[in-house]
Amino acid sequence: MRIGILALQGAFAEHEAMLSGLGATVFEIRQPKDLTKSMDGMVIPGGESTVMGKLLRDLDMLADVQAMIRRGLPTFGTCAGLILLAKRIEGDDIVHLGTMDIVAKRNAYGRQLGSFDTEKPFNGIGNIPMTFIRAPYIVSCGDKAEVLATCDGRIVAARQDNQLVTAFHPELTTDTSVHRFFLEKVCK
Ligand code: GLN
Repeated sequence: MRIGILALQGAFAEHEAMLSGLGATVFEIRQPKDLTKSMDGMVIPGGESTVMGKLLRDLDMLADVQAMIRRGLPTFGTCAGLILLAKRIEGDDIVHLGTMDIVAKRNAYGRQLGSFDTEKPFNGIGNIPMTFIRAPYIVSCGDKAEVLATCDGRIVAARQDNQLVTAFHPELTTDTSVHRFFLEKVCK
């Protein structure tokens, strides 16, 4: 399994380590020509969605990434990655990739609660550790998106066909189950 990891900014190295630990071949996507390499899946990491969105535009990669996802490329977005995939960001006019039928709220837990660890059930996996860092949550999912996990009544993981998103950072824990879920159930 070959997985391309968007490596413009943010926590991409941790995804690389976790996915290679699970036996995947990983490579970094840094420029348009990297998008032409064959891949079975793509990861959009956490970081800063405004910066990553700007870099995707400046490097002329936004439309290509969007088209690849629309054509069905299995894609896993964590945290800022979730925000980039959302079709709408609450209180904001900007849409980045906009391929997933979810509304995201950025920095949604306030300054004090911006970063915390917890353990909650994830559909089909069971309880998993969840690390939130200035995290978003999903305000609402459209009909095509399925809720996979909630935290205190807020949606923090969802799937829509080839797209999987988490508001938390499974790559920053030692639990590999969400990455396994991505490889085994979404990439197939
Ligand atoms: N707050 C960041 C944003 O809005 C997301 C934080 C993260 O990815 N850890 O993009």
